[in-house]
Amino acid sequence: MEGLLDIRGVKNMARFISVCFLLVHVAMVAIFWRCGVMPMAFFNIGSVTFYALSFLIIQRGLLGLYTDLMYLEVVAHMTCAILLTGWNSDFQVTLVGMSSVVFFAEYLERYLGIRHAHALPLCILGAIAYLSTCAVSALRPAPYTMPDTVSLLLKLSLGAIVFAVSTVVLQAFVREATKSEKALTNRLMHDKLTGLPNRYYVADYMKKLSNSGSLGRYWVALADIDDFKKVNDTYGHNCGDLVLESVAQLLQESLGNAQVCRWGGEEFLAVGLIGESMESQRDLFDRARRAIAGHSLWHEENRICVTITVGIAAYEEGFTTSEWINAADEKLYTGKKSGKNQVVL
Ligand code: GH3
Ligand code: MG
Ligand code: MG
Repeated sequence: MEGLLDIRGVKNMARFISVCFLLVHVAMVAIFWRCGVMPMAFFNIGSVTFYALSFLIIQRGLLGLYTDLMYLEVVAHMTCAILLTGWNSDFQVTLVGMSSVVFFAEYLERYLGIRHAHALPLCILGAIAYLSTCAVSALRPAPYTMPDTVSLLLKLSLGAIVFAVSTVVLQAFVREATKSEKALTNRLMHDKLTGLPNRYYVADYMKKLSNSGSLGRYWVALADIDDFKKVNDTYGHNCGDLVLESVAQLLQESLGNAQVCRWGGEEFLAVGLIGESMESQRDLFDRARRAIAGHSLWHEENRICVTITVGIAAYEEGFTTSEWINAADEKLYTGKKSGKNQVVL
């Protein structure tokens, strides 16, 4: 899967964050130095070093550790900056923005099945740091004062960065979560071998038809490959798989707009709109049956030919989905008992 849901995508995102944070901290070294807040200037040199080293951590795939350390760096930076320059410096907003980052990082890391960050304990720690620095800065004045213009510019830049980061991260979260959910649902609803929809899909499809009140305009058919066990027993399971793929494809091609699904094993279920009459549907299936019977599949120099038997049932008032499918199954059974390779209506 492409995007953030693979390890390369997440590593690239981590590298991008490291570059941005590294540049921000370089700027802060200069700002604190100019304003004479030397402890924070030195702290930021440490932060720059950390973000420079973080590329090694990312390279080694230790993304959970990277997220934990990055959050701890932000907590430590915020705590020191507030204690030294006061609550009014607004450094606390950085922590608020980081919550969305760590939770999204944990989601991605869990998805990838690698050691993940611990967003909840980290955010609890962040909240404790936030509340205690708030209380301490209310009880005693900050030892450093930043010039008003610098302070205003810092507030504006921090606010803009936090809004940008939170918005981008949360939007990416919604996009990636939706994408992964769609991909998983698609995988759940389709058979891997033939690519056809499976029973889960049929259940949903039937529910939709039932809700639209249009069941009476549809037919249901069950098609079963005749003597398929013999194909497996004679030519092997792989050959059986090839036959299944080929029959699935021929059924889809022959049945036009009907919805063809793999019902299980060597059985296929098809649902379609009744055209002119049910007899015309029988003709449709008979063409499909002949197409399959006339098709040869070559496997290791062996020519394999198979046939299918089909049972078709129109909807009858009051039918549940399983009763309707059972009705088609009974017709199929009749066809099997009376010589196979036929369509029973
Ligand atoms: P009938 O004409 O009465 O339908 O006989 P049959 O041999 O087709 O039916 P039976 O139920 O005896 O055998 C079905 C076989 O289908 C048994 C099972 O191993 C095989 N089968 C089920 N799923 C798969 C699959 O995914 N791949 C392969 N290769 N074989 C499968
Ligand atoms: Mg069979
Ligand atoms: Mg069967």
